[in-house]
Amino acid sequence: MNISHIEHIGIAVENMDEAIALYEKVFGLKCYAVEEVADQKVKTAFFKVGDTKIELLESTDPEGPIGKFIAKKGAGIHHIAFATNNVSQALIEVEEKGVAAIDKTPRKGAEGLNIGFLHPKSTLGVLTELCSEK
Ligand code: ZN
Repeated sequence: MNISHIEHIGIAVENMDEAIALYEKVFGLKCYAVEEVADQKVKTAFFKVGDTKIELLESTDPEGPIGKFIAKKGAGIHHIAFATNNVSQALIEVEEKGVAAIDKTPRKGAEGLNIGFLHPKSTLGVLTELCSEK
């Protein structure tokens, strides 16, 4: 697997408007995209910080993954995403190395990226996402 950089850090928020205001007014970053990912029951907002992005995640359904995360732990860092050249191949490689993948094959994430999540039980409690451009 060839990881080039941290593609993004996903942060679960309770109120997207307040979260965007914090990142824009306090940190001086510009929100360049807001996108709903129906599949994951979230609304996302993106900020660039060098080669890495901040992905804010607001739940659109209490039964969705972010809804459950917020109910259990409150707002905070939800996942870290590594950019790789080929997610399909990377998911096969991690399983060969004994790491449990939540996704056996890639699915579509925000910004049209191919993504796959690894199980936090296999990655020191950190929900880890691998992603690549199509
Ligand atoms: Zn992500």
